[in-house]
Amino acid sequence: MATANAPAAKPARTKPRVVDQKMLIGGKWVNSASGKTFATTDPTDGSVICNVAEGDKADIDLAVRVAREAFENGPWARMNASERGRLLNKLADAVEEHKEELAALESLDNGKPLNDAMGADLPLSIACYRYYAGWADKIFGQTIPINGPFFTYTRHEPIGVVGQIIPWNFPLLMQAWKWGPALACGNTLVLKPAEQTPLTALRVAQLAQEVGFPDGVINVVPGYGPTAGAALSGHMDVDKIAFTGETGTGKIVMTAAAQSNLKRVSLELGGKSPNIVFADADLDAAVEGAYFGLFFNQGQCCCAGSRLFVQDSVYDAFVAKIVEKAKGRKVGDPFASDTEQGPQVSQEQFDRVLGYIAAGQKDGAKMLTGGGRVGEKGYFVQPTVFGDVKDDMKIAQEEIFGPVMSILRFKDADEVIARGNRTQYGLAAAVWTKDVKKALRLANGLRAGTVWVNCFDVFDAGAPFGGFKMSGIGRELGQYALQLYTEVKTVTMAM
Ligand code: NAD
Repeated sequence: MATANAPAAKPARTKPRVVDQKMLIGGKWVNSASGKTFATTDPTDGSVICNVAEGDKADIDLAVRVAREAFENGPWARMNASERGRLLNKLADAVEEHKEELAALESLDNGKPLNDAMGADLPLSIACYRYYAGWADKIFGQTIPINGPFFTYTRHEPIGVVGQIIPWNFPLLMQAWKWGPALACGNTLVLKPAEQTPLTALRVAQLAQEVGFPDGVINVVPGYGPTAGAALSGHMDVDKIAFTGETGTGKIVMTAAAQSNLKRVSLELGGKSPNIVFADADLDAAVEGAYFGLFFNQGQCCCAGSRLFVQDSVYDAFVAKIVEKAKGRKVGDPFASDTEQGPQVSQEQFDRVLGYIAAGQKDGAKMLTGGGRVGEKGYFVQPTVFGDVKDDMKIAQEEIFGPVMSILRFKDADEVIARGNRTQYGLAAAVWTKDVKKALRLANGLRAGTVWVNCFDVFDAGAPFGGFKMSGIGRELGQYALQLYTEVKTVTMAM
């Protein structure tokens, strides 16, 4: 992801050693109630990094109990809003002070290049905590001149105990997107990190404890989705669930919310984002943007530009350039300074991506480069480009979540708007053109939560992000995210 003020990458280029991990409940580091653990593994070779306490219903129940107590009776409940902001700023400072350690931990657990963790995940996470630190004492309602001798005002109150479930592709950043607004608004929380990547969430929780968040405000329960995740989304005493992950899982989470206590739900789900290159675009910039917009983070981005539409007259020239770039992409050790692409996160994802490559070949798309694994061990996939992809092919319909580019031809603006929108998703889209009128027409016509014009993957804590259609419900980031973490109370007083 692009970020304006990325720090220079100077981290130690060795894998950190990690001890076995407990979970954080009510300010204490504890084993799971069952005593069970699970292994988190290194995607470069499948070896075990360490064992992690495996949470399930009993642990979620306990975490929700202490979060409720902290919300209602603890020092957090009486804390000034500005003090909450001060704590969030201290957390931002602590993450910044430990950024090299956290980046290394993220690379180890997820497989992403250390350069990317240092250049994108860390600065964006730190900026997110700081941004919401600033909001903490600026969240307020309205006074409303209703009819009659009454004084009416609204209060924007915290929702209460919030459950948060995050995926493995940007563990630190998804945690920051969830914690920043939830804490700024005064909620208490129980986070379930992804089972593939629990390590940075636990380390940031430790930092939060050190900077002074009161016990019980922040609880982290690692574990699997159908056990710990389901216990959280179906809990009768959780007031809100915030989920990021696959669309199918989002439906399960929303169903659990509906069938339990109708807790509030926000969802950040999958995508199949159209990236549209017109013949009048700066082609070199569009090639760079399309390459980055698909291959960044091993292609494991919810907003990846995974349907690349290129206008007929420049199709051949564009494809030649992008294939050449993909061929030169450096795949290998995430800790090496020249690596651009690490392994996929897990065996399951690796198999899934190779399955989509096979489907592309079977459906008759033209494979222009890549198509196989890299090396003998680990989950490395060759940067792969398919040309002559048709709208109804599986690789043009489903989220691949890997380094597989699908290029489609188009003739004109009307056609590409219609085809770009022909998907169940609506997370992001991009347009490359020098014609301002065309850019605005596309920006209006595309049914997506974010439209980038002559850029891709530009993220900022202040700019809302989320999906139309089956890409989600609600907007994270920016002022909009405060709505996800507050209830509006109307108070009317007779005068
Ligand atoms: P996933 O849905 O498999 O898992 C996400 C989280 O949900 C994990 O913590 C998992 O343990 C948990 N989970 C799984 N089953 C559950 C259940 N039955 N009940 C409750 N929780 C459950 O997704 P993933 O493979 O980890 O992540 C990849 C997906 O996330 C992609 O579809 C991607 O597009 C999406 N994503 C979206 C955004 C966004 O902002 N829209 C950001 C990042 C990732």
